[in-house]
Amino acid sequence: MRVAIISDIHSNLEALQSVLFAIDDLRPDSIYCLGDIVGYGPYPNECVALVRERCAASVKGNHDSGVLGETPLAYFNQYGRRAVEWTKDRITSGNLAYLERLPLTQVIDDITLAHASPMKPEQWNYVFAWPEAKKAFRAFATTLCFIGHTHVPVMVGEDSKINIFRKNCRHLINIGSVGQPRDGNPRASFCLLDTEAWTCEIHRVEYNIERTAQAILDAHLPEFLARRLFQGI
Ligand code: ZN
Repeated sequence: MRVAIISDIHSNLEALQSVLFAIDDLRPDSIYCLGDIVGYGPYPNECVALVRERCAASVKGNHDSGVLGETPLAYFNQYGRRAVEWTKDRITSGNLAYLERLPLTQVIDDITLAHASPMKPEQWNYVFAWPEAKKAFRAFATTLCFIGHTHVPVMVGEDSKINIFRKNCRHLINIGSVGQPRDGNPRASFCLLDTEAWTCEIHRVEYNIERTAQAILDAHLPEFLARRLFQGI
């Protein structure tokens, strides 16, 4: 089975369309989404519509939860909060109902999907380093667990080896972000897993950042949210 996995789209339609174009070229069997479909960017309804249409499964992210009023505004920094409020005013009831139905975690075959961490997923804990990753391994029973949330792609084996995908080893894989990469590489990120060849690759895709940044400014969202896209921070 070949599966493409996307995460942290953040209402960035240009990035999502470019990633889906690249994914279609690879012809996977399914596409899964790890949440944060909305927040920060100017196209929440278009992005939710595309995920609904193209993804066989999705889990809920903290920004999706914020727009639903499930995660309080006080949780977010000033940019996130402003974007959550902006999105709340514009999202359609149908798209809101879709976000509301998303689970916090989902298990498909031997794969767990979670937005931030499989451990207490409702707390949106960040998995940045080995101590948190070690705890996260105890919170899922499958061989693989895919997460997003930090917007920084990294692969961790249960034996603590980083960025080496091996057989007979459980892995926690952060697939990076489609719509707001933060690893210094501004290109959109997604993951392709092949369970037969046993490969797991992070792909990076160019998209039209200028157009997205202009749309953020035109929407009167914070200017920093436009600027950071050029630097991938
Ligand atoms: Zn995010």
